[in-house]
Amino acid sequence: MEIKITKTQNPTELAEEGTLGFGKHFTDHMFIMDYEAGKGWHNARIVPFGYISLHPASTVLHYGAEIFEGLKAYRLADGSIQLFRPMENIRRMNDSADRMCLPKIDEQDFLQALCEFVKLEERFVPHSFGTSLYLRPYMFGNDETLGVHTVKRATFMIIGSPSGSYYAEGINPVKIMIENEDVRAVKGGTGAVKCGGNYAASNRAGEKASRVGYSQVLWLDGVHRKYIEEVGAMNVMFKIDGEIVTPMLTGSILPGITRKSCIEVLKSFGYKVNERLLSVDELIEALENGKLEEAWGTGTAAVVSPIGRFSYAGKEYDVNGGKIGEVTRKLYDTLTGIQWGKVEDTFNWTYKL
Ligand SMILES: *Cc1c(COP(=O)(O)O)cnc(C)c1O
Repeated sequence: MEIKITKTQNPTELAEEGTLGFGKHFTDHMFIMDYEAGKGWHNARIVPFGYISLHPASTVLHYGAEIFEGLKAYRLADGSIQLFRPMENIRRMNDSADRMCLPKIDEQDFLQALCEFVKLEERFVPHSFGTSLYLRPYMFGNDETLGVHTVKRATFMIIGSPSGSYYAEGINPVKIMIENEDVRAVKGGTGAVKCGGNYAASNRAGEKASRVGYSQVLWLDGVHRKYIEEVGAMNVMFKIDGEIVTPMLTGSILPGITRKSCIEVLKSFGYKVNERLLSVDELIEALENGKLEEAWGTGTAAVVSPIGRFSYAGKEYDVNGGKIGEVTRKLYDTLTGIQWGKVEDTFNWTYKL
Protein backbone atom coordinates (compact mmCIF):
# COMPACT_ATOMS: atom_id res chain seq x y z
CA MET A 1 0.00 0.00 0.00
CA GLU A 2 1.29 3.45 -0.86
CA ILE A 3 1.01 6.02 1.93
CA LYS A 4 1.35 9.65 0.87
CA ILE A 5 3.04 11.70 3.58
CA THR A 6 2.50 15.44 4.03
CA LYS A 7 4.67 16.72 6.86
CA THR A 8 3.61 19.48 9.21
CA GLN A 9 5.13 22.92 8.91
CA ASN A 10 4.60 23.53 12.63
CA PRO A 11 6.17 20.73 14.70
CA THR A 12 4.94 20.88 18.29
CA GLU A 13 7.28 21.04 21.26
CA LEU A 14 7.39 17.81 23.26
CA ALA A 15 5.57 17.92 26.58
CA GLU A 16 7.58 16.99 29.66
CA GLU A 17 7.38 13.24 30.31
CA GLY A 18 6.35 13.69 33.92
CA THR A 19 3.26 15.73 32.99
CA LEU A 20 1.85 13.63 30.12
CA GLY A 21 -1.22 12.06 31.72
CA PHE A 22 -3.48 10.08 29.38
CA GLY A 23 -4.95 11.16 26.06
CA LYS A 24 -4.29 14.88 26.45
CA HIS A 25 -1.36 15.33 24.08
CA PHE A 26 -1.20 14.35 20.43
CA THR A 27 1.53 13.86 17.87
CA ASP A 28 2.12 16.09 14.82
CA HIS A 29 0.36 13.88 12.27
CA MET A 30 -2.53 11.49 11.71
CA PHE A 31 -3.16 8.61 9.34
CA ILE A 32 -6.32 8.66 7.20
CA MET A 33 -7.73 6.31 4.59
CA ASP A 34 -11.10 6.39 2.81
CA TYR A 35 -13.49 3.62 1.83
CA GLU A 36 -16.20 3.55 -0.77
CA ALA A 37 -18.27 0.53 -1.76
CA GLY A 38 -17.12 -0.68 -5.16
CA LYS A 39 -13.81 1.13 -4.85
CA GLY A 40 -12.50 -0.31 -1.58
CA TRP A 41 -9.95 1.41 0.67
CA HIS A 42 -8.01 4.18 -1.03
CA ASN A 43 -6.12 7.43 -0.54
CA ALA A 44 -3.96 6.24 2.39
CA ARG A 45 -2.20 9.32 3.73
CA ILE A 46 -0.45 10.79 6.71
CA VAL A 47 -1.23 14.48 7.12
CA PRO A 48 -0.67 17.16 9.78
CA PHE A 49 -2.81 16.53 12.90
CA GLY A 50 -5.90 18.70 12.85
CA TYR A 51 -9.67 19.02 12.67
CA ILE A 52 -11.53 16.91 10.14
CA SER A 53 -14.70 18.03 8.42
CA LEU A 54 -17.78 15.82 8.26
CA HIS A 55 -21.08 16.14 6.44
CA PRO A 56 -23.78 17.05 9.00
CA ALA A 57 -25.66 13.88 8.05
CA SER A 58 -22.55 11.65 8.41
CA THR A 59 -23.63 8.19 9.60
CA VAL A 60 -21.40 8.17 12.66
CA LEU A 61 -23.05 11.31 14.07
CA HIS A 62 -26.53 9.82 13.95
CA TYR A 63 -26.32 6.05 14.11
CA GLY A 64 -23.07 5.48 15.97
CA ALA A 65 -21.22 3.39 13.39
CA GLU A 66 -17.82 3.55 15.10
CA ILE A 67 -15.22 1.02 16.23
CA PHE A 68 -11.75 1.49 17.65
CA GLU A 69 -8.62 -0.14 19.03
CA GLY A 70 -5.99 0.81 21.58
CA LEU A 71 -2.36 -0.28 21.68
CA LYS A 72 0.95 1.21 22.69
CA ALA A 73 4.42 1.82 21.24
CA TYR A 74 7.06 1.17 23.93
CA ARG A 75 10.56 2.68 24.14
CA LEU A 76 13.27 0.26 25.24
CA ALA A 77 16.42 1.12 27.19
CA ASP A 78 18.52 0.91 24.00
CA GLY A 79 16.32 3.57 22.36
CA SER A 80 14.51 1.16 20.02
CA ILE A 81 10.71 0.95 19.82
CA GLN A 82 8.38 -2.05 19.90
CA LEU A 83 4.68 -2.87 19.76
CA PHE A 84 2.90 -5.59 21.76
CA ARG A 85 0.92 -8.19 19.82
CA PRO A 86 -0.26 -5.71 17.15
CA MET A 87 -1.79 -8.45 14.98
CA GLU A 88 -4.22 -9.18 17.82
CA ASN A 89 -5.53 -5.61 17.67
CA ILE A 90 -5.70 -5.72 13.88
CA ARG A 91 -7.71 -8.96 13.87
CA ARG A 92 -10.02 -7.76 16.64
CA MET A 93 -10.74 -4.54 14.74
CA ASN A 94 -11.71 -6.60 11.71
CA ASP A 95 -13.96 -8.74 13.93
CA SER A 96 -15.55 -5.53 15.22
CA ALA A 97 -15.99 -4.31 11.63
CA ASP A 98 -17.73 -7.56 10.77
CA ARG A 99 -20.28 -7.18 13.59
CA MET A 100 -20.97 -3.52 12.75
CA CYS A 101 -21.13 -4.00 8.95
CA LEU A 102 -18.13 -1.75 8.46
CA PRO A 103 -15.48 -2.62 5.85
CA LYS A 104 -12.50 -4.77 6.83
CA ILE A 105 -8.92 -3.68 6.33
CA ASP A 106 -6.17 -5.85 4.86
CA GLU A 107 -4.05 -7.00 7.84
CA GLN A 108 -0.73 -6.13 6.21
CA ASP A 109 -1.95 -2.67 5.14
CA PHE A 110 -3.11 -2.03 8.71
CA LEU A 111 0.24 -3.12 10.15
CA GLN A 112 2.10 -1.00 7.61
CA ALA A 113 0.00 2.06 8.51
CA LEU A 114 0.76 1.54 12.23
CA CYS A 115 4.50 1.11 11.63
CA GLU A 116 4.91 4.02 9.22
CA PHE A 117 2.93 6.26 11.54
CA VAL A 118 5.02 5.37 14.60
CA LYS A 119 8.28 5.73 12.68
CA LEU A 120 7.27 9.20 11.51
CA GLU A 121 6.24 10.17 15.07
CA GLU A 122 9.24 8.46 16.68
CA ARG A 123 10.22 11.50 18.77
CA PHE A 124 6.85 11.34 20.55
CA VAL A 125 7.54 7.90 22.06
CA PRO A 126 8.58 8.86 25.60
CA HIS A 127 11.58 7.30 27.34
CA SER A 128 10.74 6.55 30.98
CA PHE A 129 9.46 3.16 32.13
CA GLY A 130 5.65 3.10 32.18
CA THR A 131 5.26 5.85 29.57
CA SER A 132 4.31 5.09 25.97
CA LEU A 133 2.89 6.40 22.75
CA TYR A 134 -0.75 5.30 22.92
CA LEU A 135 -2.05 4.45 19.45
CA ARG A 136 -5.72 4.80 18.62
CA PRO A 137 -6.87 3.28 15.31
CA TYR A 138 -10.58 3.93 14.64
CA MET A 139 -13.14 3.66 11.88
CA PHE A 140 -16.49 5.28 11.32
CA GLY A 141 -19.33 5.13 8.82
CA ASN A 142 -19.38 8.31 6.79
CA ASP A 143 -22.33 8.20 4.37
CA GLU A 144 -23.77 11.62 3.64
CA THR A 145 -27.41 10.66 4.11
CA LEU A 146 -29.89 10.10 6.94
CA GLY A 147 -31.04 6.83 5.40
CA VAL A 148 -30.48 3.85 7.68
CA HIS A 149 -28.51 1.10 5.97
CA THR A 150 -25.13 -0.59 5.83
CA VAL A 151 -22.59 2.14 5.16
CA LYS A 152 -21.13 2.65 1.71
CA ARG A 153 -18.49 5.13 2.82
CA ALA A 154 -16.15 4.87 5.77
CA THR A 155 -13.05 6.56 7.16
CA PHE A 156 -10.17 4.85 8.97
CA MET A 157 -7.75 6.89 11.05
CA ILE A 158 -4.84 6.43 13.46
CA ILE A 159 -3.89 9.08 15.98
CA GLY A 160 -1.15 8.89 18.61
CA SER A 161 -1.08 10.25 22.14
CA PRO A 162 2.12 10.31 24.21
CA SER A 163 0.98 9.07 27.59
CA GLY A 164 2.41 9.04 31.07
CA SER A 165 2.79 6.12 33.40
CA TYR A 166 -0.63 4.89 34.54
CA TYR A 167 0.86 4.44 37.99
CA ALA A 168 2.76 7.72 38.28
CA GLU A 169 1.71 7.84 41.95
CA GLY A 170 2.32 4.15 42.64
CA ILE A 171 0.01 1.16 42.25
CA ASN A 172 -3.00 1.89 44.43
CA PRO A 173 -5.76 -0.72 44.46
CA VAL A 174 -9.09 0.65 43.19
CA LYS A 175 -12.56 0.54 44.74
CA ILE A 176 -15.19 -1.21 42.63
CA MET A 177 -18.96 -0.94 42.90
CA ILE A 178 -20.97 -3.92 41.71
CA GLU A 179 -23.65 -2.51 39.41
CA ASN A 180 -27.07 -4.14 39.53
CA GLU A 181 -29.24 -1.74 37.51
CA ASP A 182 -27.54 -0.79 34.24
CA VAL A 183 -25.98 -3.48 32.09
CA ARG A 184 -23.13 -3.05 29.64
CA ALA A 185 -23.98 -5.70 27.10
CA VAL A 186 -26.01 -8.78 26.28
CA LYS A 187 -25.13 -11.83 24.24
CA GLY A 188 -26.04 -11.17 20.61
CA GLY A 189 -25.44 -7.44 21.09
CA THR A 190 -22.15 -5.58 20.83
CA GLY A 191 -20.43 -6.48 24.12
CA ALA A 192 -17.62 -8.34 22.37
CA VAL A 193 -17.06 -5.42 19.99
CA LYS A 194 -14.83 -2.45 20.72
CA CYS A 195 -17.34 0.21 19.71
CA GLY A 196 -17.95 3.72 20.93
CA GLY A 197 -21.61 3.03 21.68
CA ASN A 198 -20.75 0.59 24.47
CA TYR A 199 -18.81 3.34 26.20
CA ALA A 200 -21.59 5.93 25.83
CA ALA A 201 -24.02 3.51 27.48
CA SER A 202 -21.62 2.74 30.34
CA ASN A 203 -21.17 6.29 31.51
CA ARG A 204 -24.24 6.51 33.74
CA ALA A 205 -23.17 3.64 36.00
CA GLY A 206 -19.62 4.99 36.07
CA GLU A 207 -20.95 8.39 37.16
CA LYS A 208 -23.05 6.82 39.90
CA ALA A 209 -20.04 4.95 41.24
CA SER A 210 -17.78 7.99 41.18
CA ARG A 211 -20.31 10.07 43.11
CA VAL A 212 -19.81 7.76 46.09
CA GLY A 213 -16.04 7.55 45.76
CA TYR A 214 -15.73 4.36 43.69
CA SER A 215 -13.55 4.40 40.59
CA GLN A 216 -15.22 1.75 38.41
CA VAL A 217 -18.21 -0.57 38.24
CA LEU A 218 -18.25 -4.34 38.04
CA TRP A 219 -20.73 -5.35 35.33
CA LEU A 220 -23.08 -8.28 35.74
CA ASP A 221 -24.59 -10.17 32.81
CA GLY A 222 -27.66 -8.56 31.26
CA VAL A 223 -29.94 -11.60 31.40
CA HIS A 224 -29.63 -12.93 34.96
CA ARG A 225 -27.90 -9.91 36.58
CA LYS A 226 -25.85 -12.58 38.24
CA TYR A 227 -22.69 -13.54 36.38
CA ILE A 228 -19.63 -11.32 36.54
CA GLU A 229 -18.54 -9.89 33.19
CA GLU A 230 -16.07 -7.00 33.28
CA VAL A 231 -14.85 -4.17 35.46
CA GLY A 232 -15.18 -0.72 33.89
CA ALA A 233 -13.50 -1.10 30.49
CA MET A 234 -11.24 -3.91 31.69
CA ASN A 235 -11.50 -7.66 31.94
CA VAL A 236 -11.43 -9.03 35.47
CA MET A 237 -9.60 -11.86 37.24
CA PHE A 238 -9.77 -13.33 40.73
CA LYS A 239 -7.61 -15.58 42.85
CA ILE A 240 -9.99 -17.77 44.82
CA ASP A 241 -8.62 -20.44 47.13
CA GLY A 242 -5.33 -20.69 45.24
CA GLU A 243 -6.77 -20.85 41.72
CA ILE A 244 -7.32 -18.15 39.13
CA VAL A 245 -10.87 -17.56 37.94
CA THR A 246 -11.87 -15.25 35.08
CA PRO A 247 -15.25 -14.92 33.36
CA MET A 248 -15.41 -17.04 30.20
CA LEU A 249 -15.98 -15.24 26.89
CA THR A 250 -19.73 -15.62 26.58
CA GLY A 251 -20.26 -13.19 23.70
CA SER A 252 -21.06 -10.17 25.85
CA ILE A 253 -17.49 -9.77 27.13
CA LEU A 254 -14.73 -7.94 25.26
CA PRO A 255 -11.97 -10.43 24.39
CA GLY A 256 -9.06 -8.46 25.85
CA ILE A 257 -5.54 -8.96 24.57
CA THR A 258 -4.20 -8.27 28.06
CA ARG A 259 -6.65 -10.88 29.40
CA LYS A 260 -5.41 -13.44 26.89
CA SER A 261 -1.77 -12.60 27.69
CA CYS A 262 -2.36 -12.75 31.48
CA ILE A 263 -3.88 -16.20 31.13
CA GLU A 264 -0.77 -17.44 29.31
CA VAL A 265 1.60 -15.81 31.79
CA LEU A 266 -0.35 -17.22 34.77
CA LYS A 267 -0.23 -20.70 33.26
CA SER A 268 3.53 -20.30 32.79
CA PHE A 269 3.71 -19.49 36.54
CA GLY A 270 2.03 -22.85 37.14
CA TYR A 271 -1.42 -21.57 38.16
CA LYS A 272 -4.62 -23.27 37.17
CA VAL A 273 -6.69 -20.70 35.23
CA ASN A 274 -10.43 -21.36 35.14
CA GLU A 275 -12.36 -19.56 32.41
CA ARG A 276 -15.92 -20.12 33.56
CA LEU A 277 -19.12 -18.49 34.75
CA LEU A 278 -18.62 -16.80 38.12
CA SER A 279 -21.70 -15.55 39.94
CA VAL A 280 -21.76 -12.51 42.19
CA ASP A 281 -23.08 -14.78 44.99
CA GLU A 282 -20.00 -16.97 44.69
CA LEU A 283 -17.80 -13.86 44.77
CA ILE A 284 -19.53 -12.46 47.87
CA GLU A 285 -19.30 -15.85 49.59
CA ALA A 286 -15.57 -16.03 48.80
CA LEU A 287 -15.18 -12.49 50.19
CA GLU A 288 -17.07 -13.42 53.35
CA ASN A 289 -15.19 -16.64 54.08
CA GLY A 290 -11.78 -15.17 53.23
CA LYS A 291 -11.21 -17.30 50.12
CA LEU A 292 -10.98 -14.36 47.75
CA GLU A 293 -7.26 -13.75 47.90
CA GLU A 294 -6.77 -11.26 45.06
CA ALA A 295 -8.73 -9.43 42.37
CA TRP A 296 -7.55 -7.30 39.46
CA GLY A 297 -8.61 -5.78 36.16
CA THR A 298 -6.68 -6.21 32.90
CA GLY A 299 -6.43 -3.85 29.91
CA THR A 300 -3.90 -2.13 27.69
CA ALA A 301 -4.00 1.22 29.53
CA ALA A 302 -3.34 0.02 33.10
CA VAL A 303 -2.02 -3.45 32.14
CA VAL A 304 -3.01 -4.86 35.56
CA SER A 305 -5.12 -2.87 38.01
CA PRO A 306 -5.44 -4.32 41.53
CA ILE A 307 -8.85 -4.17 43.20
CA GLY A 308 -8.80 -3.36 46.91
CA ARG A 309 -12.50 -3.14 47.73
CA PHE A 310 -15.93 -4.16 46.42
CA SER A 311 -19.28 -2.66 47.29
CA TYR A 312 -22.47 -4.66 46.73
CA ALA A 313 -26.02 -4.08 47.93
CA GLY A 314 -24.89 -1.48 50.45
CA LYS A 315 -22.09 -3.57 51.98
CA GLU A 316 -18.34 -3.11 51.56
CA TYR A 317 -15.76 -5.88 51.31
CA ASP A 318 -11.98 -5.48 51.41
CA VAL A 319 -9.71 -7.64 49.25
CA ASN A 320 -6.31 -8.60 50.68
CA GLY A 321 -6.59 -5.80 53.25
CA GLY A 322 -6.90 -3.26 50.42
CA LYS A 323 -3.34 -3.97 49.28
CA ILE A 324 -1.98 -5.30 45.98
CA GLY A 325 -1.60 -9.10 46.07
CA GLU A 326 1.44 -11.20 45.28
CA VAL A 327 0.15 -12.70 42.01
CA THR A 328 -1.18 -9.33 40.83
CA ARG A 329 2.24 -7.81 41.43
CA LYS A 330 4.12 -10.63 39.71
CA LEU A 331 1.77 -10.50 36.73
CA TYR A 332 2.20 -6.73 36.45
CA ASP A 333 5.99 -6.98 36.67
CA THR A 334 6.18 -9.75 34.07
CA LEU A 335 3.85 -8.21 31.50
CA THR A 336 5.22 -4.66 31.78
CA GLY A 337 8.74 -6.17 31.81
CA ILE A 338 8.07 -7.84 28.45
CA GLN A 339 6.40 -4.73 27.02
CA TRP A 340 9.21 -2.35 27.99
CA GLY A 341 11.92 -4.89 27.13
CA LYS A 342 13.18 -5.54 30.67
CA VAL A 343 12.08 -9.18 30.80
CA GLU A 344 12.90 -11.70 28.10
CA ASP A 345 9.91 -12.21 25.78
CA THR A 346 9.73 -16.00 25.76
CA PHE A 347 6.20 -15.80 24.30
CA ASN A 348 7.31 -13.99 21.13
CA TRP A 349 4.72 -11.23 21.67
CA THR A 350 6.74 -8.13 20.96
CA TYR A 351 7.08 -6.62 17.49
CA LYS A 352 10.20 -4.54 16.87
CA LEU A 353 9.84 -1.52 14.67
C1 LIG B 1 -10.44 -2.56 25.32
C2 LIG B 1 -11.29 -3.19 26.36
C3 LIG B 1 -10.80 -4.16 27.25
C4 LIG B 1 -9.34 -4.53 27.34
O1 LIG B 1 -8.82 -5.03 26.15
P1 LIG B 1 -7.24 -5.04 25.92
O2 LIG B 1 -7.09 -5.65 24.59
O3 LIG B 1 -6.65 -5.86 27.00
O4 LIG B 1 -6.78 -3.62 26.00
C5 LIG B 1 -11.69 -4.74 28.13
N1 LIG B 1 -13.00 -4.40 28.16
C6 LIG B 1 -13.49 -3.46 27.33
C7 LIG B 1 -14.94 -3.12 27.40
C8 LIG B 1 -12.67 -2.82 26.40
O5 LIG B 1 -13.19 -1.89 25.58
